[in-house]
Amino acid sequence: MKLKDRLEKELDDLKLADQFRFLRQLTPDGTHSHLDGKPLLNLSSNDYLGLSAWPQLRREFYEQMEHTADDAFALSATSSRLLTGNHPGYLRLEDAVSQMYNNRDSLVFNSGYHANVGILPALTTRKDLILSDKLNHASIIDGIRLSEAEFKRYPHLDLDKLEAILQKESQHYDNIFIITESVFSMDGDIADLPRLVDLKEKYDAMLIIDEAHGVGVFGERGCGVCEEHNLIDKIDIIIGTFGKAFCSAGAYAVMDKTIRDYLINKMRSLIFTTGLPPVVVNWSRFVLGKTIKMQSNRNHLHSLAEKLRTGIRNAGGETCGKSQIVPYIVGSNTDAVKLAEKLREAGLMVFPIRPPTVPKGSARVRFSLTAAMTEQDIERILEIL
Ligand code: PMP
Repeated sequence: MKLKDRLEKELDDLKLADQFRFLRQLTPDGTHSHLDGKPLLNLSSNDYLGLSAWPQLRREFYEQMEHTADDAFALSATSSRLLTGNHPGYLRLEDAVSQMYNNRDSLVFNSGYHANVGILPALTTRKDLILSDKLNHASIIDGIRLSEAEFKRYPHLDLDKLEAILQKESQHYDNIFIITESVFSMDGDIADLPRLVDLKEKYDAMLIIDEAHGVGVFGERGCGVCEEHNLIDKIDIIIGTFGKAFCSAGAYAVMDKTIRDYLINKMRSLIFTTGLPPVVVNWSRFVLGKTIKMQSNRNHLHSLAEKLRTGIRNAGGETCGKSQIVPYIVGSNTDAVKLAEKLREAGLMVFPIRPPTVPKGSARVRFSLTAAMTEQDIERILEIL
């Protein structure tokens, strides 16, 4: 079939299956976002600490940075970090990340997507095996696809199955890499990191944890679920993003020095892309300094999530997870689309999440909470539901 005909047919099929995606025009406004001129409570962002609704934080950043020697507000790195783009902000940000993570080495990337499509292809060979949770994020899957290693997926969070694969396969490969998210963004559930560390040690595997939805939100200082379990030093690579709870852009990974040096030499999504603008890198460091101390905001966020989950269950609804992400599972695509539409009409910014993002038959709307929300917001959501 010729390209145009094929694309049009596929787009029509997506529309028929209620899976057609398009870009909405939204204007953020504190905890709300304007859609078609109407303010809706934004329950679809990853701004988990609510920092985007906090303009004085931005003002404090601008004031503080005005007095630094280098051009803190520059808007372009002008080239790759490997050429002339490695401005002083990078060094300071990586220092700050390292300090947060028990002085382990760290490396900053342009995004979590860049981190995930770059790390596995750089580190693995065809004599290695990657074991990946079945619900891992698309960026992890793309990294696996780009790598030469063999891979197997284990059922979501099923560490017995993971161990069975490790038992069977660990002798046949040079290295085994286990990769999983800590907090899963579709179900809001959390991987059992202590057991993953046990398995990694027992089978001499490398463990990579993507804490995109855990950093800022979990752990005494916001290092993520790894910090809650005191496992920062036991996980080979911990990945965090700046674009979610830290309200910035970019990502980082914590690792040992050999891996860091190797990635700088071999990781294509680090080498062959323009670095992040200094202003963004400086803002990330400023925000880290603040969020380390935001334990009460984290506690508030977790109590809001618990209130919403309990409320949904008490009303006979289906939900799951243990994090700031609270799904409301309805089943069919059509029901999810209709429910999301109704909730938007009632003032809640939610969107349907459908296969292939989630397993077939588990379409849902997802409430992504932030620490800027109040108990009253949760009560309002429950009333509307
Ligand atoms: N990892 C996970 C688990 C994610 O959910 C996401 C973004 N949704 C990413 C990585 C990508 O991060 P970024 O938005 O910084 O590219």
